[in-house]
Amino acid sequence: MKIIGADVIVCSPGRNYVTLKITTDSGLIGWGDATLNGRELAVASYLRDHVCPQLIGRDAHQIEDIWQYFYKGAYWRRGPVTMTAIAAVDIALWDLKGKAAGLPVYQLLGGAARDGVMVYGHASGGSLPEMLDDFAGYLDRGYLAVRAQCAVPGGDKGYGVHRGHQLYEPASGSMPDEERFEVGPYLRFVPEMLGAVRDRFGYDVHLLHDAHHRLTPIQAARLGRDIEPFQLFWLEDATPAEDQEAFRLIRQHTTTPLAVGEVFNSIWDCQHLITERLIDYIRASVSHAGGISHLRKIFSLAELYGVRTGSHGAGDLSPVSFAAALHLDMAVPNFGMQEYMGHRDPAGEVFGTTWTFNNGLMHPGDAPGLGVDFDEKAAERFPYDPKYLPVNRRTDGTVHDW
Ligand SMILES: [Mg+2]
Repeated sequence: MKIIGADVIVCSPGRNYVTLKITTDSGLIGWGDATLNGRELAVASYLRDHVCPQLIGRDAHQIEDIWQYFYKGAYWRRGPVTMTAIAAVDIALWDLKGKAAGLPVYQLLGGAARDGVMVYGHASGGSLPEMLDDFAGYLDRGYLAVRAQCAVPGGDKGYGVHRGHQLYEPASGSMPDEERFEVGPYLRFVPEMLGAVRDRFGYDVHLLHDAHHRLTPIQAARLGRDIEPFQLFWLEDATPAEDQEAFRLIRQHTTTPLAVGEVFNSIWDCQHLITERLIDYIRASVSHAGGISHLRKIFSLAELYGVRTGSHGAGDLSPVSFAAALHLDMAVPNFGMQEYMGHRDPAGEVFGTTWTFNNGLMHPGDAPGLGVDFDEKAAERFPYDPKYLPVNRRTDGTVHDW
């Protein structure tokens, strides 16, 4: 199955997505996701200018060899741009292998290790009553797990809080928005918020919260301890993720389960976190951590140390990589939870999907490959629209982690 074409398509149906199309002499086409929120064109260029020409003529079945060729062959390793580009190639090749075999990708990865993939939705609100009503809506729709985010009364508007009825989308504006954050009111409010969820909905629903890298290790330790009575499934991104050793300090103070990794690009970003058992869930994503092939290695390392998976699944991962995540989730023994944010309209006019949601569990479907189609004609109607993630500042103006 020789590769005869490799093309990059940038479109913006509801938000920007970068899609890799690999064409083979068999007539089969594979789709990969190369979206890196706010830096989309850097990956598009990396692929178009450097990777696509080197794909032509290669055997699309040689997934691991092609992965190593682009990782080791570039000499310059890791980093979000490189690893997102390699991921796009890897995801497209798995899609092709599945289509060639007539099997869904999860079958190629070892087959179903569970009936379905438990996903969590994102409840949020500009006030506590608003967030609780949003939370109730997720339970009504059958979710077994929900993340709770809420604006801090009288303070910042809060990370992860949606506007109106659209799905949460933090990227906006041709220049980054600037937000303000102060840790004291946040640390005092979060236990109250999570307690209100337990008071209203009880303890059967899995409850999650994302601190989004905004705390110091000792602040995170205090928050973890303060929210222990509310029995979280996980506290996400407690501290900036590049300091792996910081998690040891948090760990020493709390039994609240810890999850981190959505900004990780490779196994080397979490080797220490996993082998030292400093976290409970590894949240690296298919599209930013080198594709199915590399994420599977991260998950296998995690399995050895009792760490479970919790793949990032924000709306800035296109339906192609969300499908890839579901296939991997189906097959790995140490699956924990999958984030499911959904995709804003009109993404569905460009991406056709086969996944299903029933009683809180998702299934990627049994179409050969990933089960995602891409409508190139429809994509032309939605040209690239530059947008950036916000920049965060303390109330005194100091740039802070967003
Ligand atoms: Mg997150």
